[in-house]
Amino acid sequence: MHSWPRPDVPTLPGHGDIPVLVDAGAGEALPSARPTVRQASLYVCGITPYDATHLGHAATYLAFDLLVRAWLDVGREVTYAQCVTDIDDPLLERAQATGEDWRSLAAREVDVYRADMAALRIIPPDHYIGVTEIIDPVADAGVALERAGLAYRIPAPDGGTDLYADLAADREFGSVARLDPTTMRELFAERGGDPDRPGKRGPLDPLLWRARRDGEPWWASPLGDGRPGWHIECAVIAARHLGVPFDVQGGGTDLAFPHHEMGTSHLRGVSGVAAPVAVHVHTGLIGLDGVKMSKSLGNLVLVSDLVADGVAPAAIRLALLAGHYRISRDWTPELLATAQRRLEMWKSTLAPSTSDDAGPAERETVALMRRALTLDLDSPAAIAAVDRYVAARPADQTRSGVVGAAVEALLGIDLG
Ligand code: ZN
Repeated sequence: MHSWPRPDVPTLPGHGDIPVLVDAGAGEALPSARPTVRQASLYVCGITPYDATHLGHAATYLAFDLLVRAWLDVGREVTYAQCVTDIDDPLLERAQATGEDWRSLAAREVDVYRADMAALRIIPPDHYIGVTEIIDPVADAGVALERAGLAYRIPAPDGGTDLYADLAADREFGSVARLDPTTMRELFAERGGDPDRPGKRGPLDPLLWRARRDGEPWWASPLGDGRPGWHIECAVIAARHLGVPFDVQGGGTDLAFPHHEMGTSHLRGVSGVAAPVAVHVHTGLIGLDGVKMSKSLGNLVLVSDLVADGVAPAAIRLALLAGHYRISRDWTPELLATAQRRLEMWKSTLAPSTSDDAGPAERETVALMRRALTLDLDSPAAIAAVDRYVAARPADQTRSGVVGAAVEALLGIDLG
């Protein structure tokens, strides 16, 4: 699946250090890349395209965009994979409710998402993969897990068999989110799982392959006619396009369990590697008046609506980066207004290009920005460093190129 255009990323003098990121399971900061490996690899769960991209999605992809930019600034070759869950229950339910073909609904929403990502100058993934593009490899993974004794079948209501992963066979299960059994069961039921289905060996065992149901799309496979389960699709895309182990798996905090826990378990099963993901990184949620944005509550703020209203995408970006990525936070009109004022200030002081005008103040500002982003992508501290520089710069001086280039390269803010 094609992604979206890649923004220009200026090369800065010198280089930054490998960022450390707070790992969800360990609860402590870990290096985001291996010191002796030239490549850095990232997997971020993509959208289920049944609804437009809202600011909560944007904030997640923006956080990992900061990581990609920091890696590039270190001199790493980055390999980034992202999925599109273009076949899933919520998508089919929405399509059925509105009478639209599920494929055209998905295609339209992916188009909106691409336009949002391009407007926000988010560096696109190298591998942007729809689940419908990897049906055969997912079925092959299911076959391999079953052969290895890590999966079992249950008769399905409309014929054929559903395939489930046997979590009892995975001794590392639980290491990603580190939750107690009661919480795991609650979240599993809340987020698409079926803990009470008769015939399952364990209540948390996740579906790997769903046999063909009447009225639902299906594909022929060695597992029988059907379609992939949710978690195995990300495991397969990551294993195919990044290899195992890879450096960082990311997504919103609501994906930690069950999605990343199950996906990591599947990765262990297909690869035999005990720790297939080095660091699990989760982003906070964006709310409106203290409530998480969701379609059912009708409180979505869409990137596409803001852009259509004439809001500069750079201001949206700056507003979201004004908070730390791991902290759930609110979107407010004041937040956007502050970002818009800041953007104008920066534009009047900083030039959108690299030049060799770096004196001590410029060098120190770039170093402070790099240091902030190296420490768990602390974008508020990086922004504060630029603010201090802008406030101290005499009004009659020409605009600084090197700080402007750092703002563009590290924070992705277009000053043009
Ligand atoms: Zn995923």
